[in-house]
Amino acid sequence: MPELPEVETVRRGLAPVMEGTVIEQADVNRPDLRWPFPENMAERLTGQRVERLRRRSKYILADLSSGETLLIHLGMSGRMLISGDPLGQFTHDHPAAQKHDHVVFHMESGARITFNDPRRFGAMDLLETATAEQHKLLAVLGPEPLSNDFHESILIEAFKDRNTPVKSALLDQRIVAGLGNIYVCEVLFRANISPKRKAGQIATARVGAMVPIIRTVLEEAIEAGGSSLKDFRQADGELGYFQHSFDVYGREGEPCRREACSGIITRVAQSGRSSFYCPKCQR
Ligand code: ZN
Repeated sequence: MPELPEVETVRRGLAPVMEGTVIEQADVNRPDLRWPFPENMAERLTGQRVERLRRRSKYILADLSSGETLLIHLGMSGRMLISGDPLGQFTHDHPAAQKHDHVVFHMESGARITFNDPRRFGAMDLLETATAEQHKLLAVLGPEPLSNDFHESILIEAFKDRNTPVKSALLDQRIVAGLGNIYVCEVLFRANISPKRKAGQIATARVGAMVPIIRTVLEEAIEAGGSSLKDFRQADGELGYFQHSFDVYGREGEPCRREACSGIITRVAQSGRSSFYCPKCQR
């Protein structure tokens, strides 16, 4: 499932192909994904210029010249395929239509962007740009972790007297937006904090210290995504997924990477999700 860095990588891949360009035609091949598409979606997209492509948490937001914003969520398995890009970055010919191509944007430039999603947990919606932040999916989100809205005192206040494990607190999108299972595991490793530790029982200095760690972990992943963008273009023009090397995530039974630690990475289930951590150096 794509997390914030993967979504940001997709956004950066799409931006040069979409921004400033008119959607000449939009094909909407089914009535819904996770939820029904908005009424007349194809008509409302056709002929609109994409003014800006931005991101909020795991949502890509395309501001259109009509005053509406297209919200895109990749869900579990959503992928964006770019073909026929005249800028020469995605030089692939337009592929034959595939089974799960649900929405296709034909850009005026000749580029084509195909949203393919076999499991259909993705979503698209159209909202008024002026009031987009009040959309039900966006209004509930906490601060963006890479923005100035997110800082030490916010996390300290949110963790105060909180009786849930720190793992669940960091996954709570109302506290900080966009963190998912993988990067929470990585953050807690770097912070030397056990995922099982109760949020309210961690010293405030250690809670505050997690803020720059969260930023660094996400920024490094975005940077890794940026360098893998080049490979996507060369491969098949597909955006969405890439393999990182993680310190703890997916490394059950392997030795801890921290020097002078002889711990073995362990997996525990927390709220139905796997947490990976080193029981020896994460306390
Ligand atoms: Zn360790």
